[in-house]
Amino acid sequence: MTQAPIIEVTDLTVAYGSYSAVRGVSFAVGRGELYALLGTNGAGKTTTLETVEGHRPPSGGQVRVFGKNPQDRKDVRPRTGIMLQESGFAPDLTVRETVGLIGKLTHRDDDIDRVLDAADLTGKRDTKVAQLSGGEKRRLDFATAIFGSPDLVFLDEPTTGLDIQARDALWDAVDRLREDGATIVLTTHYLEEAQRRADRIGLMHEGLIQLEGTVAELTAALPSTIRFTRPDTAETLPLDTRAEETGAVLIETRHLQRDLMVLLRWAEEHSVELPDLAAGSTSLDDVFRTLNR
Ligand code: ATP
Repeated sequence: MTQAPIIEVTDLTVAYGSYSAVRGVSFAVGRGELYALLGTNGAGKTTTLETVEGHRPPSGGQVRVFGKNPQDRKDVRPRTGIMLQESGFAPDLTVRETVGLIGKLTHRDDDIDRVLDAADLTGKRDTKVAQLSGGEKRRLDFATAIFGSPDLVFLDEPTTGLDIQARDALWDAVDRLREDGATIVLTTHYLEEAQRRADRIGLMHEGLIQLEGTVAELTAALPSTIRFTRPDTAETLPLDTRAEETGAVLIETRHLQRDLMVLLRWAEEHSVELPDLAAGSTSLDDVFRTLNR
């Protein structure tokens, strides 16, 4: 990172009474990065983010956002868009009125219709908040977070409850923010979204970031996998295998290309079909599972 980081967290601790929810977390997010803070339930992600957002004071350590203390709201808040897990919008306001109101509160300028379009809510502009579906409310949360194209956007479980079209539309809008240079901090339990989108990932467990890096760095420590449904043959498979809980056959390998070739040659020679064959590097899911061991 050549420029000063947008977010810098050093030895952060946060306690609720005698319970330490965050136990010494350090990470930095550079300008234009998409950083995903992932982790097990109760790991301390929300607590960490609330502190970085300036909603909660640290018990110890230091948090800097744009080089400032995020609790100095006048410096940090106008440059920050936050999509919380649940926002409390007034039920009697329309979608358009809500976006306009939030826009005023952020002190940023934007065209309300542009924001509605970016969040795919144009057709619902005159609908009252109380009448929105769960997915539409989520899109309204997103609309208010991106109003005025803030430099830093926090997305807390942004796609929960969204159908596939709405997810794609949301990620398109995030891509556009990133093209404009925005920095994004994401939390999600949809690991494949983080795997596809994040520049770097911090994996939290029990109040600490246990692993951090790019997807390639995080998955490099684990072997690649070959999976298929057990074939209908008496021939012995040419490689060591394990049976997964699902009944699939699993081969773990550090030499994916070579071992896949061995398997395919064997299948060809014995005229064996390998149903549901899939091969590739380890997924983030597998890295995640190692946290709980
Ligand atoms: P999840 O993925 O389940 O949303 P998380 O990583 O966001 O979890 P946090 O919400 O930060 O986790 O919670 C961390 C720990 O702190 C949990 O054990 C939780 O029970 C506890 N905790 C959170 N908020 C409070 C609170 N207000 N008072 C006491 N304990 C709390």
